[in-house]
Order: sequence, then structure tokens, then C-alpha cells
Amino acid sequence: MRRPKAPGTVLQALEPATRKLGELEGRALRGEALTLVELAASLSQCLQEVARVAMELVLDQAARAQPCSAPCPCGQEAQSKGFEDTSFVGRFGRVAVSRRRLTCECGSSSFLLDRAWGLPTGHYTDDVREATDRLSCRLGFQEAVAELHHLWGVAPDASTAKRWIGQDGGRAEAGAEADAAAHWARYEAEAYAIARGERRQAQRTDGFGVVEVDGVQALTWKPGQEPRRHSGVDKTPATVTSGSAEISAASEMGERASRHQAPSTLSQIRGSPMGPTGRSPRVHGREVCVGLVYLGEHACQQSPRRGVLLEKRYVATLDDREGFWLKLHAAAATQGVLSRKEVVRISDGGKYFIDQTAELFSDQPLVGILDCQHAKQHVWEAGHELAADKKEVQEWVVPRAQAIMDGKVAEVIAGLADERERRRGKPRAAVDELRGYLDRHKHLMDYPRYQAAGYPLASAAVESANKRLVGRRCKQGGMIWSEPGLEAMVAMRIAFMNPGAWRSLWPHAEASPLVKPGIMQRTLGRAAAVVTPSGGP
Ligand SMILES: [Zn+2]
Repeated sequence: MRRPKAPGTVLQALEPATRKLGELEGRALRGEALTLVELAASLSQCLQEVARVAMELVLDQAARAQPCSAPCPCGQEAQSKGFEDTSFVGRFGRVAVSRRRLTCECGSSSFLLDRAWGLPTGHYTDDVREATDRLSCRLGFQEAVAELHHLWGVAPDASTAKRWIGQDGGRAEAGAEADAAAHWARYEAEAYAIARGERRQAQRTDGFGVVEVDGVQALTWKPGQEPRRHSGVDKTPATVTSGSAEISAASEMGERASRHQAPSTLSQIRGSPMGPTGRSPRVHGREVCVGLVYLGEHACQQSPRRGVLLEKRYVATLDDREGFWLKLHAAAATQGVLSRKEVVRISDGGKYFIDQTAELFSDQPLVGILDCQHAKQHVWEAGHELAADKKEVQEWVVPRAQAIMDGKVAEVIAGLADERERRRGKPRAAVDELRGYLDRHKHLMDYPRYQAAGYPLASAAVESANKRLVGRRCKQGGMIWSEPGLEAMVAMRIAFMNPGAWRSLWPHAEASPLVKPGIMQRTLGRAAAVVTPSGGP
């Protein structure tokens, strides 16, 4: 332990800026030019250094102002025997701090400054971590840290980014679970009060809400089959990397990823190198459940055949199926879906999703709809079994698909009964299958009524959610995830996309650009007002 160096003043931090501005002024007066981009870059670098030195000086002042003793929880007085050094990496670079350690006779010791100023327990401050998470949610881990380094000049390595996503994804999940638990406690208390006649059922508002549910596959290592990590990757001391070359290799793509091809249409072809036998037995596709809730009026048409949802809320999980339904209900309540006159549920006909949603929303005015694209797809599949050439298939399929859209499902089913008598073998089986499918779902296929009410007829929104939430980040070429890694990433992407979720995950560290454009504009505006002569040029 040592005494701190002689006191400085915070304004010393401006020295590099004064020097830089003087130098620039000199160049300008001498008639030397530099491009605007160079000018901006050198100013930005200078401001970054000013900020870093200012942080050191401010903390230094704070450390000096601290008392030499403080009461310990044990009742005695903890005393300081001197200063101890530490440092951390923030968005402006590495900041050194010297502060008192208070030690008590009971054996406990603490740093008052660390607690008061929120010094990180790890190497990095929360804003660097938040920015890393933000980028890692959208880019590969390697790309994310390289981009952050490019923007801020500071970034952890890729394996740290990966570890943070794991930990913060866990926090995001826990937050969503806590929200769902709070929702259910309220919801059940209210239902109980209504059942006992203590409270009246709230009036439902006009309009409808929509719940869509689907599943999307992503590749994961079978448990216990994950590639072994390079030992020591996690133990590398975190440093301010000075270039992407130093970023150690550890991404979602294992070193053998190139041998494990992602499923594609080629994988359906027997003997294809991408076929099922081409995939390692250590890898399998796992289904992520994706749910989406929104209000009818938030579905807009951006252009013909292209819809956009103005407001929506996502729910998704890999393993926690039970939690998924609880969270879906909570999301529907938050989004206002459960207070509407109708709750529309769209599905592709998967029995699991239909049964679960029917039970989950059993006390709601539920309108079930079968995705019309899936219905038509079934007719096309049967058509291909029944007819030989393309034209014939079309002639068989098109009128039936149209009849379904016109709400004449009963007629189509009756027609299939006749068709059955005329067929044998495989075609007959195809007719039976289609008939069974239509018969099971006919109560979900009143398309003219749905259309008149303005309900969505297709599950396009949730299929787009599949891509948005999971596909874009988790299903890129060669990506294979550990199951906890995939779960955490999905949780982080939901936190990123659901309104308010990211802010609640990072209450103190909302990352912002180095200089907010608004502030810049106002300052420049004021400067211009001073400089421009009132009469104009
Ligand atoms: Zn004590």
C-alpha cells in the first residue's frame, strides 16, 4: 500500500484536447488542409482520451474524499491502512483507480469507493458488456467483438462475449419468468374474486387480438457430444484488444463445423453429401417454440402482399415448454390481447399447439384458424399423388383450393368421398389422408367469415418471427449450438426485440453513441447562429 500521488485537478483532463485544438488551428492558419474524415477521427480519438483521463481524475478525487474509517456491520469501526490499486476497462479504455481498503478487526474488509461508484467486479464495465451483448445478439461472436472494437476501440474477446450471452440470457429468462409469475398471481386472484362475486368481469374492448404459435428447428450438439473447448480460453486475462487479429477463436462454429452441413433442400435427396447420413451423429435438430401476440389493429399492410406488425411481443423457448405457455399467456395479457372481444389463434394444424392453446385460453373468446397456406399445401400434396402431369395436377387442385377459401369445405370433403371410390392403392391413401385432415380441421376453416372480420388467414407473422428471432442469428451456415447456448441466445434476442425488455435488463447501462446526434445538432445550430452574420452572405 502507498500514498496516492499529488492531487491533480479534473480540468487537467482537457490538456490533450487543448494541445490537439492548438495544433489543428496552427495547421489551418498555415494553409495545411486535411480531409474532414481525418479531422473527425483525430478529434474523436482526442475526446476519447480526454474522457478516459477525466474518469481517472474524478475517481481519484472521490477516493481522496473518502473517510479513513466507517462503521462495520459488526458494530466496530473499520479502519483504512492505505490505498490499493486496481483498474478496469470501460468504453474509453483502461482506467486506473487507487482507493482505500477499510479493514475491521472482525476480519471483514471492503472498498467503499467500489460500491459507491459501481466499479465492475470483472474486468469490464457494464456499458462495454451491454454493447457487446447488443452486437452479439445480431452478429456472430467474432464479428460482434470486431465491430465493437472498430467502433469504440475497446472489446472483450469472442469467448468472453459468448460467456456473457450465456449469463445475461439466463438473467433475461429469469426476468421473463418473474414477470409471468407476477401476471399469473394477479390473473388468478382476479378470477377468484370474480368467481366469488366480489368483482365484476371487466368489459371487453372492441376488436381482436392474435396469438400465433409455431416451432422452428436449429442444430444443436447432442448433450455430452459438444466439441471440447480449448483449455484456457476462458482464463485468458481480459485485455483491451488492439485488433481483431488478437481476438481468440471461439465462436458458435466449432472447428469441425464445416463437416456438419445445415439441413437444406438437398438434405432430402438420398445420397446427397448434405443428406441425413452426411450429418454427424453428434448433431441433431431441436425445435424452438416460438409464440407471437399482437392486436388486430397493429397488423398493417406495407404494400400489397407485404404486411408489417407495428407492435408485437415474442415468447420462445427450447426446453422450458411449461414456462413457454405461462409466458405466452402473460405476453398476451401485457399486449392487451386478453381484454379484446375475440382472441384469434392461428396455427398450422400441429396438434400439440392447438391442444395447448385451447387449454391455455379456455376462458377466452377463442377463434381458432387453420393457416390457409398449410391447408392448400395439403391439397397440393394429394393432387401430386392423384395426377400424373403438371396440368392435370393443377386442374385437380385449383378448384378444390378455391372452394376451401370460399368456405365450402363440406363440399370438398363430400367430393373426396366420391373420389375415393374411383381410386385404389396410393392415390386412395392420399385421398383418405386429405379427407381426414380437412375433417379434423373443418371447424377452423371458415375463411369467408374470418376475412370479413379482418382476421389474418395465414400464419405468416409467426413464420417471419421464426426467421427474425431464431433463423437470422442461430441458423446460419454451419452453426451448431450447445443447448444452453441456444436457449440463452434466444432469450437475449427476445429481450432485444420485446418492448422495454432490454432496458429492464440493463437499467444503468443503456449504451449510447459517443456523441448523441441531437446534442451535436443543437450545439452546431447555436454555433452557426453566432457565426453567421444576420444579413446572410
Ligand atoms: Zn467488523
